[in-house]
Amino acid sequence: MNEAHGHDVVIAGGGLAGASLAIGLAGRGFDVAVIEAIDRDANHQPSYDDRTLVVNRASLNILGALGVLDGPLTRCPIRTIEITRAGGFGHVRLQADRHGVDRFGDVIVARELGNRLLETMRSTDGVAEYCPETLETFAVDEDGVEVRLASGTRLRSRLLVAADGTGSSIRQAAGMASSLHDYRQSAMIFNVQPDPASTDIAFERFTPTGPLAFLPQPEGRLGVVWIDRSEAVEAAMDWSDDELIERLQRRAGTGFRGFDRPGRRARYPLKLLRTPTPIGRRCVAVGNAANTVHPVSAQGFNLGLRDVAGLLDALAEAHDPGAPAWLARYAQSRAGDQAETVRYTDTLARTFTNPSLPFRLGAGLGLAAHAILPGLQRRLVRSAMGFREPVSTLARETP
Ligand SMILES: Cc1cc2nc3c(=O)[nH]c(=O)nc-3n(C[C@H](O)[C@H](O)[C@H](O)COP(=O)(O)OP(=O)(O)OC[C@H]3O[C@@H](n4cnc5c(N)ncnc54)[C@H](O)[C@@H]3O)c2cc1C
Repeated sequence: MNEAHGHDVVIAGGGLAGASLAIGLAGRGFDVAVIEAIDRDANHQPSYDDRTLVVNRASLNILGALGVLDGPLTRCPIRTIEITRAGGFGHVRLQADRHGVDRFGDVIVARELGNRLLETMRSTDGVAEYCPETLETFAVDEDGVEVRLASGTRLRSRLLVAADGTGSSIRQAAGMASSLHDYRQSAMIFNVQPDPASTDIAFERFTPTGPLAFLPQPEGRLGVVWIDRSEAVEAAMDWSDDELIERLQRRAGTGFRGFDRPGRRARYPLKLLRTPTPIGRRCVAVGNAANTVHPVSAQGFNLGLRDVAGLLDALAEAHDPGAPAWLARYAQSRAGDQAETVRYTDTLARTFTNPSLPFRLGAGLGLAAHAILPGLQRRLVRSAMGFREPVSTLARETP
């Protein structure tokens, strides 16, 4: 039998989270292997599609420190956030300059960010790529993990990272307890030309069937994230462009005079995955493989990137990155942020679509309170920018 290739860390999944982690670990001197199932050139890599990602300020700091923002990348800054409710009171307008920053974050298309991550990863010494290749099985012993790939190749490492997305087979095989909830909602994404043209404002509108977000795009276009019951989104995928525009106009109610030239539509069923303790023996889960959240308020990748930065901090002095003490340190440092982000997105997803009067009233009062109480607004802004305690070394603002 062939000898196993030796690495310090094997990362299963080269999506947004896995690729970011590989860059960070290799930059700290670890020898890293990334296994990715889908051929990058096939252009249907699930992490690298047409989604418009809100990459918040803390995440921009992390990506900047990893060198990912050094190359060309189309970034549309968000300087204002408007939150409204259809058919109810409550309206919040947040402005970056009033909170002492130039932007809350940037909108970046996932495909562009993914390609930039790949370029950075490939120019970083110490990363071996196995792609297209699938992790099939692994076995843990006293001082390492033996990984078997679909091709028969064997790898040996000190630590195995599950960055293999919501359905992670590694998380399950490593015995990490998790729960999965189906929201029975889907997100439909497309972009559109608004009148007036988009600027630097992101809109989030809560409607009784689900939220609707508008995100600034290049050339004055807007990225739309349309969330509704799954059956309704399935039907909406078949609407003619004219019908889509008419329905969008009715649902938006944001002061746009009109919309035109909608782009290609894509649909995503929405699930909540929660893993309270995302570590096992010589194994750790990050990103969607650990916690997958509802896209309301654009937290998913930002949370995954904070996992990446938190793991880099936890392993800063590790000679053996799979040793239990380092993994326990990671789990402990990330527990609060992961629990709070899951709770926050889940509460938003459920509250505004709850038909009962007390819930609707509570939601309106909550928004109204954020509009008038500076303390609440500061907290909202800090978490919208991704600064949840403990703030990792890479996420910190440089003076
Ligand atoms: C409509 C929508 C809008 C969103 N908007 C935002 C936003 O504005 N801001 C934000 O922060 N987040 C947003 N998100 C969330 C964000 O897209 C995800 O959090 C992020 O893409 C997850 O990345 P990941 O790398 O953790 O997982 P994934 O993207 O699922 O990547 C997992 C990778 O692992 C690979 N893989 C799986 N199994 C194996 C195996 N056995 N061997 C090898 N490889 C394997 C897969 O091929 C894949 O490439 C949004 C999500 C949706 C659905």
